[in-house]
Amino acid sequence: MADFKLTYATMFNPPEELHAGFDKAVEKLKKNMGQEYTMLIDGKEVKADEKFDDHSPVNTDWVLAKMQKGNSKHAQDALTAARKAFPMWSHTPWQKRVELLRKAASLIEERIFDLGAAMALEVGKNRMESLGDVQETADLIYYSCYQMEKNDGYIVEMGKDPLVGYDARNVSVLRPYGVWLVVSPFNFPFALTGGPAGAALVAGNTLVIKPATDTAWIVRLLVDCFRDAGIPDGVVNFVTGPGSTLGQALVDSSEVDGVTFTGSFDVGMKMFQDFGKRNYVRPIILELGGKNPVVVSKNADLERATIGIIRSAFGLQGQKCSAASRVLVEDSVYDDLVGRLKETASKLVIGDPTDRNTYNGPVVNKSSYNDFKDFCEEINQGGGKFLVGGNVKTGGMFDKGYYCESTFVVDLPFSHRLWKHEMFLPITTIGRVKNMDEAMSIANDVNYGLTAGFYGSPEETEWFFDKIEAGVTYANRPQGATTGAWPGFQPFGGWKGSGSSGKNAGGHYYLPLYMHEQIRTLVK
Ligand code: NAP
Ligand code: MG
Repeated sequence: MADFKLTYATMFNPPEELHAGFDKAVEKLKKNMGQEYTMLIDGKEVKADEKFDDHSPVNTDWVLAKMQKGNSKHAQDALTAARKAFPMWSHTPWQKRVELLRKAASLIEERIFDLGAAMALEVGKNRMESLGDVQETADLIYYSCYQMEKNDGYIVEMGKDPLVGYDARNVSVLRPYGVWLVVSPFNFPFALTGGPAGAALVAGNTLVIKPATDTAWIVRLLVDCFRDAGIPDGVVNFVTGPGSTLGQALVDSSEVDGVTFTGSFDVGMKMFQDFGKRNYVRPIILELGGKNPVVVSKNADLERATIGIIRSAFGLQGQKCSAASRVLVEDSVYDDLVGRLKETASKLVIGDPTDRNTYNGPVVNKSSYNDFKDFCEEINQGGGKFLVGGNVKTGGMFDKGYYCESTFVVDLPFSHRLWKHEMFLPITTIGRVKNMDEAMSIANDVNYGLTAGFYGSPEETEWFFDKIEAGVTYANRPQGATTGAWPGFQPFGGWKGSGSSGKNAGGHYYLPLYMHEQIRTLVK
């Protein structure tokens, strides 16, 4: 258990005990890898006939865990268990649900080093990114608890009917939908499972969780926190297996009353269409991809812009939905900024993400690694030049994992398709623009609208916020041009092809998405 809380402040200036705690946890974990983990259905540890080995992208010889390859029968069993538990959980007073969820969040905090170490080995995140994902999960859960309390369970006394001779009481209540499905991505496996799960549970829904196959192990460790907090059997069910079979079976089931999916645009849009095939419309919260721009004006503080862009372009190897993947720079400062970006990016340390000095670990799997090589080839063919990077790393430990250089591309024509395609890798394209209007028109000319960053004068920032089509926007921020949202500070969600609900996670309007309204009129 850490004696300090990882916050916004410690994130950028971590105390020594954080490093000591993390190092100890990695050492312990490495002695204990390769155990078998089950699914969790109705409180029972369930095995499937088929298993799969969860290899680390840091070193593919390391088998972190043996996981279950669940199938459509497991999907059905999990939904049945969640349905059975719903009356009990939804009638549990919200104060009790809040108490149990706060307990789960505090267990996550107690286990932060062990969980962070597992995260680093399974995803390939560096230590601060790994610990950040774990702490953010606890904070997202706390935030849902806080919202429930602040809104007094969302029970609101409405006006009295003006009809003379009748005394009517009108009360608005928000009630849970029923069985909620959470399907999460590999890149923030903790926060993007635990955040939606926490909201759904506080609201009174029961759950089926399906994690990304690449990160099935760490999500199992999250589910342990819910179970160990005393959340009753059947309320949180956990199944593992391929999205295309097990995941699809969940989506196709009429037993699901609502979904939160976080992942790619293509999978999310297909899910949206498949989920529409029932006799009525059910809620589906989609948090999808991004192609996030950074606009740099001639009035920018270039030192801040440099550090903010580097952090957002290459943090987590560019595998953030919020990654800065396009940089649009006003002509007169272009050469200066590009020179600074080159110098700073060349110094980033790539290696084992559990090492204290590593900034970039490996990308998550072989398919992403191959995509990196293919995109670099395509950029080369398309006239782009590599300001830095452009290759995978080879030799020694690099041959054991999926290591790619942090890559800035210049001179790629704006007409090239990769200016609009989410690569989800450490590749960021930089372009020169004549003026701010041109920058804005390019910035908005994509299917996505997740995050966006700006560096310029105070007057220009108002113009930027007003014109940019994105759900999360930042101006003049050195901590990250487009990344680093935190619950209660920067609620996170996207516009256009980046999200469906128009309300951001970790913000004022999120928790009500997990409940439908009932008006209760009673005439005395
Ligand atoms: P992904 O390939 O779309 O997978 C996401 C999840 O969907 C995984 O659990 C996957 O399981 C599952 N899945 C795949 N096919 C399915 C199907 N037919 N039915 C049901 N489930 C299915 O995304 P990813 O590669 O893990 O994550 C990267 C993407 O997520 C990027 O596009 C990124 O921008 C986006 N993202 C968005 C946000 C946000 O807040 N907007 C945050 C983080 C990431 P398997 O792993 O078993 O295939
Ligand atoms: Mg793996």
